[in-house]
Amino acid sequence: MTIGVLALQGDVREHTAALEAVGARTLAVRRASELDAVDGLVIPGGESTAMWKLAVAFDMFDPIRKRLADGMPAYGSCAGMIMLADHVLDAAEGQLTFGGISITVRRNAFGRQVDSFEGPISFTGIDGELHGVFIRAPWVESVDEGADGVEVLARVSGGPATGRIVAVRQGNLLATSFHPELTGDHRVHGVFADLVRAAR
Ligand code: GLN
Repeated sequence: MTIGVLALQGDVREHTAALEAVGARTLAVRRASELDAVDGLVIPGGESTAMWKLAVAFDMFDPIRKRLADGMPAYGSCAGMIMLADHVLDAAEGQLTFGGISITVRRNAFGRQVDSFEGPISFTGIDGELHGVFIRAPWVESVDEGADGVEVLARVSGGPATGRIVAVRQGNLLATSFHPELTGDHRVHGVFADLVRAAR
């Protein structure tokens, strides 16, 4: 089993290390031929507008959309969550996403004053708490009407954003507003590796 990390932009190294810590073989994916060699794909945190433009420039945009539509498992953190969302609020002009998860996300949702914060997160399927690191993060504004099988895995549990959805799964697609790859806790990557294994 090989898990790719989309390596156009963002915190590729941190995701690669987290995946290797849970026993996955990894491949940095920069071109469509590399995409063919992976069983699942991580879309890192970074900047969703840059990732969109680079994916188009490197002829990766349509191939990734197609693999996702064909059921390839993917996990997106932060900008990666935006890339997997079907709809985006506060998007840049013309901004496109790969899509796949029937949600509407809001970019930079936590506001400028508190654009970065950390706090405990309880996550369905993981015992105890995770340390949530949010950096100019999106939140899930809503699950799209009529969406089938979108599972809310985590919500903010304190402060002004209490109740906001910050982790979801729909089928083989997983997304978090926060960055588990920046903590030493690799359990979310473990959940994703299990999902990729099960989908093979
Ligand atoms: N604000 C960024 C965006 O819109 C996401 C930030 C991140 O990935 N840490 O893409």
